[in-house]
Amino acid sequence: MNLQDYQGVFVFVQQVDHKITGVSYELLGKGKELAADLGTEVTAVLLGYQVEDLCPKLARYGADKIILVDNEALEPYTTEPYAHAMYSVIEKYKPAVVLYGATAIGRDLAPRVSARVHTGLTADCTKLEIDPDTKNLKMTRPAFGGNIMATILCPEHRPQMATVRPGVMQKIKPIDGAEAPVEKYDPGFEKNNKYVEVLDVVKKVSDKIDIQDAKILVSGGRGMGCPENFKLLRDLADVLGGEVSASRACVDAGWAEKDVQVGQTGKTVRPNLYIACGISGAIQHLAGMEDSDVIIAINKDENAPIFEVADYGIVGDVTKILPLFTEKLKEE
Ligand code: FAD
Repeated sequence: MNLQDYQGVFVFVQQVDHKITGVSYELLGKGKELAADLGTEVTAVLLGYQVEDLCPKLARYGADKIILVDNEALEPYTTEPYAHAMYSVIEKYKPAVVLYGATAIGRDLAPRVSARVHTGLTADCTKLEIDPDTKNLKMTRPAFGGNIMATILCPEHRPQMATVRPGVMQKIKPIDGAEAPVEKYDPGFEKNNKYVEVLDVVKKVSDKIDIQDAKILVSGGRGMGCPENFKLLRDLADVLGGEVSASRACVDAGWAEKDVQVGQTGKTVRPNLYIACGISGAIQHLAGMEDSDVIIAINKDENAPIFEVADYGIVGDVTKILPLFTEKLKEE
């Protein structure tokens, strides 16, 4: 394999129901940075059916070029046609780096593509950077239960491929009026999907805001004492216009739903304000929230590790402090 034949950073753009998933914008932002370090460009790869009108959005979020594969076979998502399309795009355009969101779709698609193009895949990355000497991509992810961060290289093969945790990378501020050339590519699809036929799509109906989109999070840990005390978190979140999240200890205990778990095996969040209530600050929890703009911790143990990342700390009983906090804010 001649590594020099492979150039450019490609980002797989995930769209579901004609809506681009947030992590795709984050990856365009990161991809742009990596491309600058490689002296190349970032290309968005958009797959779907009748999705051409989404291209201007990708340009606004940093795509220098867009490759569009638009075909009926790509709606809704199924593994085989998507893997075929991504494989064909890689074979034709030979990118040096391909990034996917570590979403359910990205996690399904990326391993298949990596096997077909005979390259490696680093899953669930939290950091990506270009080695200034070798120009290889350094892909970092938690390993051994989050106790170490492993940096993985793919020096002998191209493309270098990674899935990246949603919420970890930052999207760029949208550039008004930005334009990017769109190249349409048709890899050819078989008329019928051989393995899977989608008979029906049952959507989860929820009026909850995803904690990754919330600007303010009031987060509960085991120190809340019992599930009933989660009402104290909800009351404060309502006054502040925020959402409630939780540590894994609470999710495992059945006090909170899995989709609000913050941390290594939950979600990575970056709100403007994160209020950690009765959370000790285990490394696996910090991995999901330490990049929040402002962190307030309430804990009765003044030596709790959460205070090491907190901007403001309150030592005391959370069940007594939260109602006072909420009442005071209501007065203002
Ligand atoms: P604890 O560690 O039990 O802390 C409770 C805290 O509450 C203590 O600091 C205590 O002082 C304080 N407290 C008690 N009572 C009060 C009170 N009345 N008022 C004020 N403070 C009080 N954890 C996550 O959160 N997210 C993850 O994604 C995650 N992934 C993991 C992945 C792996 C592979 C492993 C091994 C672990 C993972 N964990 C994760 C678990 C993590 O290691 C911790 O066990 C967990 O975060 C602890 O949750 P906690 O802080 O709520 O509970």
